[in-house]
Amino acid sequence: MTDTHAHLDFLDPKELEEAQAHLPELKAVLTLGVDPTRWERTLALAQGNVYATVGLHPTSAHLLSPEVEEALRHYARHPRVRAIGETGLDYHWTPETRPAQLRALDFQAALAEALDLPLILHVRSKDGRAEEELAGWILQNRPKKAVLHAFSGHPALERAGLEAGAYFSFAGPLTYKKNEALREAARRLPRKRLLVETDSPFLPPEPFRGQRNRPHWVRHTLARLAETLGVSFEEAEALTDKNAEGLFRWSA
Ligand SMILES: [Zn+2]
Repeated sequence: MTDTHAHLDFLDPKELEEAQAHLPELKAVLTLGVDPTRWERTLALAQGNVYATVGLHPTSAHLLSPEVEEALRHYARHPRVRAIGETGLDYHWTPETRPAQLRALDFQAALAEALDLPLILHVRSKDGRAEEELAGWILQNRPKKAVLHAFSGHPALERAGLEAGAYFSFAGPLTYKKNEALREAARRLPRKRLLVETDSPFLPPEPFRGQRNRPHWVRHTLARLAETLGVSFEEAEALTDKNAEGLFRWSA
């Protein structure tokens, strides 16, 4: 199993200990370093089968400055870094920083392109405006390797992601009873573009809703993906492991 999106640095010491004890169940975990205060800690956690990203989450996009750009360029070259981000648009928490979010997105997309790394995309809004806008950005900018993290099933994003050859990463919401439309999207999408993630400690799958998520619980999302696709757990595991390996090149 591969957890392509976790925030190990958000776990408290006890949670982290438990998460690390379960790491042998996973082929790889990608932990996201989402603001300048977290990059060093994230890189320190990237050992064994844990790999890292560095980036500026859209809710921290206002922190972008020439110094932060320089530091991000520096950390992005660390040997354990396998992607840039997460970046994108968040009008749920920080609609007021939209211009800064777009600048940070463009900067991180250019950095990912220059280093031939995948770009991890986050998007959230109450009314779908961020999703519509990010879909437009994807079609205009055509990132070579992009991941729609915690894909929500938004139709415009699905179309844009498909057209740009992006990857679609499914998190805990795939397991929620009401999300039949999301499972239909998973069935429609090309299998070679499917990934799974936890977004730990957020978005816990069934039957752990209300608890803080952890990487090895990706098993539950993977089981639901297998059921959705009508394949065995082992087949879904092999598929998503292979897709993640091809994109992130763990062993490179
Ligand atoms: Zn995240």
